[in-house]
Amino acid sequence: MLRTKVVCTIGPASSDRETILQMVRRGMNLARVNMSHGSREDHARTIESVRAAAREVGKPVAVLVDLQGPKIRVGELAEPIELHEGDEVVVAPEASAREGEIPTTYAPLSEEIVTNDIVLLDDGLLEFRCVRTEGDRTFFEVLRGGLLKSKKGINLPTVNVKAPSLTEKDLEDLDFALEQDVEFIGLSFVRTPEDVTDLKRRVGKRALVVAKIEKVQALQAIEEVLAATDAVMVARGDLGVELPFERVPLAQKRIIQLANYHGRPVITATQMLESMIENARPTRAEASDVANAILDGSDAVMLSGETAVGKYPLKSLEALVRIGTEIERSGHLERGPRYLTAPGLRKRAGASRREHAVAAATVDAATQIGAPAIVVITRSGFTARLVSSYRPSMPVFAVTTERSTYRQLAAVWGVHPVLAEDVEVTYEVLSEVGKRAVVESGIGEHGGSVAITAGFPFHESGSTNNMRLDRL
Ligand code: PGA
Ligand code: MN
Repeated sequence: MLRTKVVCTIGPASSDRETILQMVRRGMNLARVNMSHGSREDHARTIESVRAAAREVGKPVAVLVDLQGPKIRVGELAEPIELHEGDEVVVAPEASAREGEIPTTYAPLSEEIVTNDIVLLDDGLLEFRCVRTEGDRTFFEVLRGGLLKSKKGINLPTVNVKAPSLTEKDLEDLDFALEQDVEFIGLSFVRTPEDVTDLKRRVGKRALVVAKIEKVQALQAIEEVLAATDAVMVARGDLGVELPFERVPLAQKRIIQLANYHGRPVITATQMLESMIENARPTRAEASDVANAILDGSDAVMLSGETAVGKYPLKSLEALVRIGTEIERSGHLERGPRYLTAPGLRKRAGASRREHAVAAATVDAATQIGAPAIVVITRSGFTARLVSSYRPSMPVFAVTTERSTYRQLAAVWGVHPVLAEDVEVTYEVLSEVGKRAVVESGIGEHGGSVAITAGFPFHESGSTNNMRLDRL
């Protein structure tokens, strides 16, 4: 049982029922559906297959619907254009682009860009500098050329893009996601904490929001974004274009450290085993990257193209699990994520001092008495996330009566969700359910010690105030 959770993006290479079933069996905890590609009908089928596979295997799997956000792209080109350093090119809105011009999906570009702003295309492979604008046209000098193809992404790291963070398509996709009753909604290109609060207001308690950190503005306001969101993603694909690539490694460590500190689950994403899109084995650099993301303190590591469109979706998942298993077996994680200590024990956003004190005391007491597991009784999952953020060296059995919480917690580091259905909702009964799950998993033995945490009164969330040392 890995403590680090595994996220797989489902796409044409993996969306058939059998592959999804195999992925659940082999360790996928969270299935990601990327709204930038595919139709809603396809996604609905994928989600249905994930639910069916989870039922069949008998373990919780969460679903993340990742909204495209205001991604700016090149429009449809009749054929790819070969561009060379020094060329002058004209970019125009899709609707009015003439032959020889480059169409873009972002019509207000010329109003928001200023001379000398830099534009990166196709994951940064091509680079333009703005020379001037004229009406809805923008004139660029090509700084780095290459073959430009239809639909490639455009990043504007220095432009204050005014596009709303939820496009019309996102709002429709959000309705779809909520209808599908998914556990997580991903928000792309977050710039401000308000982008997150706006989505959270629309979502309410129906799902958790994952703020994707892929813009410089979000990185600059990271503490406020973390306070506003439920979870974050280190979205290294776009982040590494918006930022010079050499700044990505430390940005990753900083986001993870602060996410741990704020008790927010953090997913490290993109190009983790990129070469496995084509090859059956990862490169050694990729194996190190996955290991380091885990050692940094990631709650979860994510596969993108590797499982969505790659030749080896199952082998990629297996490789990720092998690397994670090795790191977790090594004992390195027991010393705690290396970057967690620096911010100290200040009050962390979203939880009161009392809640932190109880969570910290639970982890500390479990460690002192050598308990094989911690049992958390939780309704919304909040206490389990908080306990997990202290990175206990033993698994956290989170007992909940709520199906949605049960599935959400599948994505949280070190948490083993336990669903308590059709039982009397009392502390005695739920703690028994938790203790039985610990024994049945083989992690603890009858008569062994266990730390249990819960809140009284029972039905109020945010009431974590109790820790008890008990016998299994
Ligand atoms: P994307 O997000 O795959 O939706 O672009 C992840 C990233 O940018 O890394
Ligand atoms: Mn992205």
